Amino acid sequence: MTKKVIPLIDQRLLPPGLPTTLETPTGLITDVSGRPLHDLRISVTDRCNFRCVYCMPREVFDKNYTFLPHTDLLSFEEITRLASLFVAHGVQKIRLTGGEPLLRKHIEKLIEKLSALRTPDGKDIDLTLTTNGSLLAKKAQSLKDAGLNRVTVSLDAIDENIFKKMNDADFPVADVLHGLDMAHQVGLGPIKVNMVVKRGVNDQEILPMARYFKTSPFILRFIEYMDVGTSNGWKMDEVVPSAEVIQRLQNVFPMAPLAANYTGETAQRWRYQDGDGEIGLISSVTQAFCSDCSRARLSTEGKLYTCLFATEGHDLRALLRGNGSDAELSTVIGQLWRVRNDRYSELRTLNTDGLAPPRKKVEMSYIGG
Ligand code: SAM
Ligand code: SF4
Ligand code: SF4
Repeated sequence: MTKKVIPLIDQRLLPPGLPTTLETPTGLITDVSGRPLHDLRISVTDRCNFRCVYCMPREVFDKNYTFLPHTDLLSFEEITRLASLFVAHGVQKIRLTGGEPLLRKHIEKLIEKLSALRTPDGKDIDLTLTTNGSLLAKKAQSLKDAGLNRVTVSLDAIDENIFKKMNDADFPVADVLHGLDMAHQVGLGPIKVNMVVKRGVNDQEILPMARYFKTSPFILRFIEYMDVGTSNGWKMDEVVPSAEVIQRLQNVFPMAPLAANYTGETAQRWRYQDGDGEIGLISSVTQAFCSDCSRARLSTEGKLYTCLFATEGHDLRALLRGNGSDAELSTVIGQLWRVRNDRYSELRTLNTDGLAPPRKKVEMSYIGG
C-alpha cells in the first residue's frame, strides 16, 4: 500500500540546544519589530472528522494519510508545562485548536489544568477553543465546567448542500446550530462564528449567513480564504476580498464601521445600523495585520511556530523530553521570540501578483488555525 504523505519535510529544526546563560522571564518580551507575545495557539490533534476543501482536502487527507502516532503528541502535562512558561513571558490568551480539538480524548482534563494558570500579576488566562461544532452540543457543559471561557465555531454555510460541499463530510447544519445554542446556554460566550469564504463554492451564502445570525447572540465573522499550507491548491481568484463582502452586505443592510476592541484585533468590526449586532471581517490576504501579530503556535507534537506561514518549527518537545529544566526551556522560548521577524502576509500584499515568495508551508490542520 502506498502511503500519501504531504511533503512537510521534517519541519523540526535541530534543537537549539540548552542555553548556558539563563534568563528570568519579565512578562514583557518583544520580537525584533517590538511585537509582544500575548497569544498562544495550541494544536491538540492533527486529526479531524471534516475534510474542509480549504484545509484538509480529501484527496490528500484520505484513508492512506499518516497522522501522528499518539506518542508523538504532547501530553497534557507537557502542554501545561510549556503553556505556563509562555504565560510567564506575557501570554494572556490561550486558544486550543487542531485538527478538531474536541476529538482529543479527555480534552476537559487539559482545560482544567490550563485554566488554573495565572499571569505574573495574578490574572486569569483567557482560555478559548475553536471547533467545527460537530461535538459541541454533547460537550458544551463539560467544557464550561472544566474552566473554558469561550468557543469560536466554524460554519461555512447555512444551506445543507453548500455546507457539505465545503466540509466534504456528511454532517447536518442543524447539529452545529444546536451546538452553538448549547454553548450559549452554558455561558461559553461571547461566541464567534467563523465563515471562510471561497469564491464559487460558498460565497452565495454571505447574505443568508448574515441574515441568520443578525438577530442571534453570535458574532459572524467572514474570513478570507488563505494560502495556508500547500494541499488546498489556493488561488488568488478564489479569495473574496473583505471589501467585496461588506459591499454585498451593505447593498442589503445599512452598516457602519466600529472601532477595534483592542490593538492587534484581527477582525474589522461593522455594526448593523438598525441596531441588530455586529459582524467581523478577517482580511488576512488583502489587508495583512502582521505589524500587530502577537501569536505563537505550538504544534501537536510540540514545535513552536512564530508565524502561521512558517516553514520551520522549533522543537520544544526535544528539550522537554531531553530533561531541560523550566529555566532552560523558558530561556529558549525567550530567545526564539526575540529574534522573530515573520511578516509573511505583508510580503504577500507587497507582491502585485498576490503571492508571497514560494516556500514549503505547514498545513493548518497540523499547526492549528
Ligand atoms: N477544526 C476546528 C475548526 O474548524 O474550527 C479548529 C481548527 S481549524 C484549522 C481553525 C480555523 O481555521 C477554522 O475557522 C477554519 O475555518 C480556518 N481555516 C482553515 N483553513 C483555512 C484557510 N485556508 N483559509 C482561511 N481559514 C482557514
Ligand atoms: Fe477540520 Fe477545522 Fe480543518 Fe475543517 S477547518 S478540516 S473542521 S481542522
Ligand atoms: Fe502573524 Fe504570520 Fe499571519 Fe503575519 S502572516 S499575521 S506574522 S501569523
